[in-house]
Amino acid sequence: MSEPSLFTKIIQGEIPSSMVAQGESWYAFLDINPQRPGHTLVVPKEQAQRIAELSSESRRDLMDGVVEVQRRLSIEFETTDFSINVNDGPLAGQEVPHVHFHIIPRTKSSTSHPLWNMSNKPSDPDFEALTSLSKKLQSY
Ligand code: AMP
Repeated sequence: MSEPSLFTKIIQGEIPSSMVAQGESWYAFLDINPQRPGHTLVVPKEQAQRIAELSSESRRDLMDGVVEVQRRLSIEFETTDFSINVNDGPLAGQEVPHVHFHIIPRTKSSTSHPLWNMSNKPSDPDFEALTSLSKKLQSY
């Protein structure tokens, strides 16, 4: 068994996170350095670096997690539109070696072009804002 990844430690509660929702085989929480407000990560509880390395059950359930997170973000951000991104391996820019979907709500006030460039993030996490949004999204 490989070392637990950062996201496995988050799933196990060893490292704190701002939860959005969870299912039997997936966990969703707010990105600590959001590209836009509401930027959420959906991860399988099964630890694997790439989508292809996951069991087919985890892979299928993960999509249910993505849609459940979209449902909650839709309520808070009053939108049906999202940028969804997966960096599937280090050469694709993956920093944490554990499959994760980035879900970013898009609104009229945000720019209309796709968010391909994920590198211009603020560096100081706003924990108060993350905790407050996490509580709201868990209640939906
Ligand atoms: P990637 O570059 O696709 O591997 O994305 C990794 C993401 O994990 C980045 O957007 C980070 O901001 C995010 N991240 C790293 N550490 C944490 C953490 N402790 N809690 C929440 N998000 C994190």
